[in-house]
Amino acid sequence: LVVLGIETSCDDTAAAVVSNRRGFYGQWGNTRSDCIFPKHNIQQADLLSRYGGVAPKMAEEAHSLVIDQVVQQALDASNLTGEDLSAVAVTIGPGLSLCLRVGVTKARRVAGRFNLPIIGVHHMEAHALVARLVDSDLQFPFLALLISGGHNLLILARDVGHYVQLGTTIDDAIGEAYDKTARWLGLNISKGGGPALEELAREGDSDSVKFKIPMRQYKDCNFSYAGLKTQVRLAIESRSAFQDRKSRADIAASFQRVAVLHLEEKCERAIQWAKEMEPSINCLVVSGGVASNQYIRSRLSYVVERNRIRLVCPPPKLCTDNGVMVAWTGIEHFLLGRFDQPPPAREPEDYVYDIRPRWPLGEEYLHGKSEAR
Ligand code: ATP
Ligand code: FE
Repeated sequence: LVVLGIETSCDDTAAAVVSNRRGFYGQWGNTRSDCIFPKHNIQQADLLSRYGGVAPKMAEEAHSLVIDQVVQQALDASNLTGEDLSAVAVTIGPGLSLCLRVGVTKARRVAGRFNLPIIGVHHMEAHALVARLVDSDLQFPFLALLISGGHNLLILARDVGHYVQLGTTIDDAIGEAYDKTARWLGLNISKGGGPALEELAREGDSDSVKFKIPMRQYKDCNFSYAGLKTQVRLAIESRSAFQDRKSRADIAASFQRVAVLHLEEKCERAIQWAKEMEPSINCLVVSGGVASNQYIRSRLSYVVERNRIRLVCPPPKLCTDNGVMVAWTGIEHFLLGRFDQPPPAREPEDYVYDIRPRWPLGEEYLHGKSEAR
């Protein structure tokens, strides 16, 4: 079984070819190729960063420019052609609809041409399930903390396609807070705000600025990063006289410490909740772009140790958006017979896009009761 995965939900254009043998094939499990065109390669990166976020129309254009090339490179690098594929998997949500369309159009074109089934993938599910590609011992059920630019989720994964949402953010995700803090500190964010902030924080004193840990009064598993963002902005503004590297590093370190303490506290509670629901739980998966952060990994390793469970954290390149996770999630669904029939070789002009820009992952867990959505 060989699946091509395509990812265009946000600002990275990615494609990969993955086969279904778990264990070690190449660099990551059975990944045959992995091709990514990250936003910082895109000529308009400067413009994008001036917008302070992703400008959908520009991101769409950027995806359209490179999608054919990215998919071709993924196929070439795997030494396979479209004829060798078993199916095509593509992210259909959540994400920016203009961007999702680029990937879905390409996926349908490849699937139509080679008469391949197509699998629509949930982007956050892919972030979680890629952990099973890199760790062949990882069985359901497991708990997943998914942290990225747009999401902050605590998910109980019961089986492929069966998820219970224990917590989410009530405003911003942690990645957004990292990105904004990096921007306000004037860091070079060409490779993303998160990595730049993590690097600077290593030089700082995390006790120097006292930020308040969010949401402590709420005995739930939800997150909030908007208030911390405001605290950081005010701290930076009030220290405008200190533009030296040391005081910026102190703010970076203090921000990171509190941002991560918030994760730790909610993870502790989620582990308890998950154990009540699924006593056999023995693993916390941490994935999504922010999970490439080494400080977060080391802090969470203490949390799992205290709770006698295991931590599974995919390598950084599989934590940030990539095609491998989409292809792998496609394989997991395909093996369970969950896929769509091949699309027509020639798409009708009035084809209605099968995308889900807003798409919750699983049902919400509310005070002991699960509520289907
Ligand atoms: P989503 O999955 O919500 O659609 P996304 O599309 O923004 O997220 P991801 O690649 O999953 O993309 O995550 C990107 C986020 O990860 C950005 O906010 C980035 O700053 C953050 N990030 C990447 N590396 C690090 C790091 N080392 N430390 C902190 N944050 C990081
Ligand atoms: Fe993502």
